[in-house]
Amino acid sequence: MVRQASSRVETGNVKDSSRYLNYLRTLADLAAMAGIVAVQFKRMLNKELSHFSESSKSGNQISEYICSTFLDKQQELDLPSLRIEDAVAATANVDVRAVKKKDRVQRGPAAMSHISGVKRPLTHTNSFTGERVPLHGVETPHEEQLGKLLSDIDKWGIDIFRIGELSNNRPLTCVAYTAFQSRDLLKSLAIPPKTFVTFMMTLEDHYVKDNPFHNSLHAADVTQSTHTLLNTPALESVFTPLEITAALFAATIHDVDHPGLTNQFLINSSSELALMYNDESVLENHHLAVAFKLLQNEGCDIFVNMTKKQRQTLRKMVIDMVLSTDMSKHMSLLADLKTMVETKKVAGSGVLLLDNYTDRIQVLENLVHCADLSNPTKPLPLYRKWVGLLMEEFFLQGDRERDQNMDISPMCDRHSATIEKSQVGFIDYIVHPLWETWADLVHPDAQDILDTLEENRDWYQSMIPPSPPPAEQQQLASEQQSDDRIRFQVTLEEGDESGETGEGGGETDENAGEAGM
Ligand code: AMP
Ligand code: MG
Ligand code: ZN
Repeated sequence: MVRQASSRVETGNVKDSSRYLNYLRTLADLAAMAGIVAVQFKRMLNKELSHFSESSKSGNQISEYICSTFLDKQQELDLPSLRIEDAVAATANVDVRAVKKKDRVQRGPAAMSHISGVKRPLTHTNSFTGERVPLHGVETPHEEQLGKLLSDIDKWGIDIFRIGELSNNRPLTCVAYTAFQSRDLLKSLAIPPKTFVTFMMTLEDHYVKDNPFHNSLHAADVTQSTHTLLNTPALESVFTPLEITAALFAATIHDVDHPGLTNQFLINSSSELALMYNDESVLENHHLAVAFKLLQNEGCDIFVNMTKKQRQTLRKMVIDMVLSTDMSKHMSLLADLKTMVETKKVAGSGVLLLDNYTDRIQVLENLVHCADLSNPTKPLPLYRKWVGLLMEEFFLQGDRERDQNMDISPMCDRHSATIEKSQVGFIDYIVHPLWETWADLVHPDAQDILDTLEENRDWYQSMIPPSPPPAEQQQLASEQQSDDRIRFQVTLEEGDESGETGEGGGETDENAGEAGM
């Protein structure tokens, strides 16, 4: 009897464990597929960019910008186990996502007693002492005009700059309040309106006003874009109120307390933040830590009435989404999205079928990532303003690098950046592939967005100043020769045998004029 029973149990175990092993193998195969796609993407991009960078000196700078921003730096380390070939081999056996997530946890700070950048709560300066929360979440003498603009909250290409002016410089608070109210989320998740506005104002105050680009206007823009993308018909009724709240919340916090410097700068200068986060997604970890800390301020906990489980789920989703805004994860995100499009499942009603957490969060991560990279898809006057602001922020970093005798990061030198050409490269290699894939996923919902992107790309292409004729180039080259000789030694020491100085013949200063519009 006893033996029979135990053998039955054993048989059961063997069956269960082999089923489990098969399941694990399937998971590993899927992860391996995604991993291989990502590696192939990076390879293709590297190849394309090497042609582009050989085409001209400015091409070289743009391709350096794209590589340093949108590719994982790990490949460039001198670690034999991290070569692309090994990565391909490794992905055949290992669940890449699981490893990455584990890595994040292990690399996180052991104990964080103090989060830099979190201002001491100033009691009641950010909360409403009165009874009534203002109509649009902000006190303004322009309530009616603001209301008119906000009535277009669902539209792509709303004039967020004007909203900034009319809202007493609180575009994030009023856009977030309007988006949450229009979805009835305050009611469905029992968020007290006063608490919501108090938190949003505090959050907005923790965006750095002096940054030309990474200030609360950019956060408002990404929040409004996220709100619009969530409305796409292919996703109708797909996400729960909790998931929608997580996505909108992630957008509002995704760049809070951004110092106006890139991850690479923070790492290269051994900044406090890089030390704190061990060089891994430094800014993104910081944005999350600041935001979750602010929720603990008195009267700021907008999730106060949720169950513990809801709060835990929401926190996990928000962390996943904000960490995915690290641009060095772009290729992996895009590769996963491509794989999803290839195996796309739709329900009877035509909407996407996303039946597990991995698929659901992947769509949300890509959605917020698209919103973060959406300025080139907006009406041209808005797009041009964003470009001017971003370049100004890059140039301020470049000025600092010059002052501190550091290497000036690609696209950060105001004397040699080539703005128009860099926009064309950025669209061709990064933004268009992403939006094209998103448009495939939600086909045909994003066609207009893709059309605008292509028109904008053509406009920037048409604005690239012609290179000077060969004779003039020779003249310029000989004028630069003595200067070049000095720098030649420097670049050789750095291992660059091309002897190029990074100064692009006819594509120099005149293009920098657009910055700061
Ligand atoms: P984030 O820094 O989180 O706002 O992510 C957006 C990043 O994408 C910026 O920091 C830039 O590196 C890049 N980016 C966004 N828009 C542009 C643009 N128009 N031109 C070049 N790079 C851009
Ligand atoms: Mg960011
Ligand atoms: Zn951003």
